[in-house]
Amino acid sequence: MSGPLSRYRLAIIVALLLLAGIIVNAGLYYQQGSQDIRHGIVEQGLPLTGDTIFSEIDKSILRPLSVASLMANDTFLQDWLKDGERGPDRVARYLAAINGRYGITGSFLVSESSRRYYYAGGVLKTVSPSDPEDRWYFRSLKNAQGAYDIALDEDMTNGGKTTLFINHRIVDSQGKLLGVIGVGLPQAELSAQLAAHERRFQRRIYFIDHDGRIVLDSAGAGQRKLRDLPGLAQLADAILAGGPEPRKLEYSRDGNRYLLTTRLLPELGWHLLVEQNETRALQPLHAALQVNLAINSTILLLVLIAVLATLQHHQRRMRQLATTDPLTGCLNRLAFLDLLPGWLRACERASAEPQLLMIDIDHFKQVNDKHGHQIGDRVLREIADLLRSQLRGGDLLIRWGGEEFVVLVHSHGDDDALAERLRSIVANHIMSASGKRLTVTISIGLCQWLPPETLEAAVARADLALYAAKQGGRNRVCHAQPYHPLDEPIA
Ligand code: GH3
Ligand code: MG
Ligand code: MG
Repeated sequence: MSGPLSRYRLAIIVALLLLAGIIVNAGLYYQQGSQDIRHGIVEQGLPLTGDTIFSEIDKSILRPLSVASLMANDTFLQDWLKDGERGPDRVARYLAAINGRYGITGSFLVSESSRRYYYAGGVLKTVSPSDPEDRWYFRSLKNAQGAYDIALDEDMTNGGKTTLFINHRIVDSQGKLLGVIGVGLPQAELSAQLAAHERRFQRRIYFIDHDGRIVLDSAGAGQRKLRDLPGLAQLADAILAGGPEPRKLEYSRDGNRYLLTTRLLPELGWHLLVEQNETRALQPLHAALQVNLAINSTILLLVLIAVLATLQHHQRRMRQLATTDPLTGCLNRLAFLDLLPGWLRACERASAEPQLLMIDIDHFKQVNDKHGHQIGDRVLREIADLLRSQLRGGDLLIRWGGEEFVVLVHSHGDDDALAERLRSIVANHIMSASGKRLTVTISIGLCQWLPPETLEAAVARADLALYAAKQGGRNRVCHAQPYHPLDEPIA
């Protein structure tokens, strides 16, 4: 890695590690959560709903079924039929007494000998094999499945409402077929019961018969075939082959996954199906996962900001340490050489010339000798501060050596105004050392640097000027000799 990449390597590694942690954590959280939800639905929710529905069905359908069975085996009724059906109002009263129990609304009796259809109001009609409305009766007589069958039909004694009829054959002790007796259960009430359960359990509940037809669901639509329903069609065989033991199945439809339990209700010959939309059940988990990711991402972001801020602070500090002189805060030579090309270009852009001031503190050895090194350090710092106070943003102040400074400024002519100002501000500055007043002076060699002259050549000229200033009595500014290419030192 190089450049900014290497500079931010630590931040990148920390971010990647945290990100990996967040992703693994979220993945495990989701996996465990969805497993728990799935397990809860398949192992508890659906079977429990199935059990509840099963016991409800016991009340709603199986009890009416046993009423129909009791009526069919009632010897008084059988005798009445065999004795010529005298007094039809007697059987009408009998049927009326059955209505109202267990949600039964349409109890009826059809006599095989007279083909009369009796209901709570008396005789409704005479059934005939040629009437399509009466086909159910002749089908019931021939029913090979057992003593009774269950069919959805319109109840003519009850405003034509769709009704679930339990049709039970009446067979006397000699095996003679006397007719069909049964009860009707309004489909709307059964569907409403299912709808209430669906709302309570948040699951879909429906029944299919042995042909795979939906005989009862909450919508009351009925009669649709399992094989016509998308997703469920391929499960039809497995569902219809199932026994009374609950079975777990699953399928997909419209991008949603459904979990399903099914079991056979042998008395009805129906299969009970309870299903739940797993995709919807997982939605709260998705929402929780999003919150989890949002929180973790925010934490990641904050950690990254903290790491980056710390890194930047350290980098700034290190850059400062590497580029500035710790005692005086001036640029060191190395940093100056780094900055120089850019500084020269800026100077050219400003149509200015670089002016170089070589500054040396006068008799500084004596300051050290007289007041000690610590005071010497303080004097160096104060002089650096004084010099800096006279410079502008684009000017450079470099600690060149022990008590020597170089100043580089943009100038528009060989004028020594700045050098003079620097000299005089130092000379007039009073410091204190060991309770005594202390003043120091500086000597300055001033040189107009005109590249292509090299820095070394310019510095050498300024050095000579500085030497002249020292020779001239110190605390003064001397101009360097003009530049001459032949004066360039041999590399
Ligand atoms: P001149 O006027 O000819 O320049 O005399 P001078 O005494 O200033 O020159 P000289 O080169 O003889 O002495 C410079 C002294 O500066 C010697 C050295 O101990 C001192 N010096 C250099 N760097 C530091 C520093 O960082 N701290 C202190 N206290 N003294 C320093
Ligand atoms: Mg010196
Ligand atoms: Mg000196």
